[in-house]
Amino acid sequence: MAPSLKSAAQPRPGDEAPDGTPGTGEAICPDCEGSGKRDGRACPTCNGTGKVVQGIGGA
Ligand SMILES: [Zn+2]
Repeated sequence: MAPSLKSAAQPRPGDEAPDGTPGTGEAICPDCEGSGKRDGRACPTCNGTGKVVQGIGGA
C-alpha cells in the first residue's frame, strides 16, 4: 500500500505530538507568532507553517 501524502505530514520541531493525535490540535507557533518566518527564513520550530501541534488544555 502506498502511504497517502499529506502536505503537513512531516513532523515539526515545535510539535508536541503528531498530527491527528487525540487531545491535540494546531496552535500558533510561539516562536514566530504564526508568521512562519524568523530572521527572514522559514521558522525552524514550525517549518515555516506558522503552526505547531500542541496539547489542548482540557478543563
Ligand atoms: Zn514558527
